[in-house]
Amino acid sequence: MKELISVVVSCYNEEEVLPIFYKEIDNVSKKMDNVNFELLFVDDGSKDKTLSIIKELAKNDSRVKYISFSRNFGKEAAMNAGLTYAKGDYVAVMDADLQDPPKYLYDMYNYLQEEYDVVATRRVTRTGEPKVRSIFSKMWYKLINKMSDTEMVDGARDFRLMRRNVVNAILSLNEYNRYSKGIFSFVGFKTKWIEYENVNRAAGKTKWSFWGLCKYAIDGMTSFSTTPLILSSIFGLIFCFIAVIAIIFVIIRTLIYGDPVGGWPSLVCIILLVSGVQLLCIGIIGRYLSKVYLETKRRPIYIVRETNQK
Ligand code: UDP
Ligand code: MG
Repeated sequence: MKELISVVVSCYNEEEVLPIFYKEIDNVSKKMDNVNFELLFVDDGSKDKTLSIIKELAKNDSRVKYISFSRNFGKEAAMNAGLTYAKGDYVAVMDADLQDPPKYLYDMYNYLQEEYDVVATRRVTRTGEPKVRSIFSKMWYKLINKMSDTEMVDGARDFRLMRRNVVNAILSLNEYNRYSKGIFSFVGFKTKWIEYENVNRAAGKTKWSFWGLCKYAIDGMTSFSTTPLILSSIFGLIFCFIAVIAIIFVIIRTLIYGDPVGGWPSLVCIILLVSGVQLLCIGIIGRYLSKVYLETKRRPIYIVRETNQK
């Protein structure tokens, strides 16, 4: 029997690009006639015609499956649902906007026939992206790789083809705060990296705002590193040390020169600095605490409204 590849595509307001995407992936599937395909579209609570377009595709093509969420749960949740519902011996994860070119699936599948378990992709350029965004991402990757034991590959995309055992490993991490770049790296396995130049969206708009990306970056940090907590303890130690020296200095100075009133501007500066550092550290601890809070609630990662996948 032929093996099955499930292609998981998360879609949020992608009415413009979906028909183009379908055409591309259909072409690729025709080229790869030694395997069967299952196209699993996850509609992440789209507000446009995305779902009806997918249903239309499903009517004409029995390989098309869909899962539709009750509201927008975010791409991480959509990918998680896709991986859960996918039946394939291999599962590919990709975006609908053709920034993950389907033509690579052919090579990716061939690599899996060698000794690899996962074929992942990374983009080596960031053309078409705002400059500030690129600079911040570069800095973030440097920082997170210093702070986390889990390696985050700069420019890694979520686009990948995995064997069933890798998918099961990913699903076995049942945390609520899912940061997939970290999760993919955490589960390990033999990974082949394919590199390509950044491709711009075929149509439609990106869902990411700058602020959204910042929040995502902080989430990634707290999900895969506890170094900020260590840093805040170190801050505390340094300030205690400075305080001890300052106290000794002040005592000795008072003994020698008496106690002339003055020095309140410096006092204000010190109070501001120290309380700032305190707030920063409390904020850092708060980030972790909020994660624990959300984890303990055990809320579902997504809620399905309708699906044609059994
Ligand atoms: N996406 C999603 N839910 C969201 C936001 C995005 O499923 O809340 C999907 C979107 O439809 C697309 C993919 O995630 O298929 C990547 O989104 P986008 O192209 O906006 O991100 P970028 O490529 O700019 O990082
Ligand atoms: Mg995109």
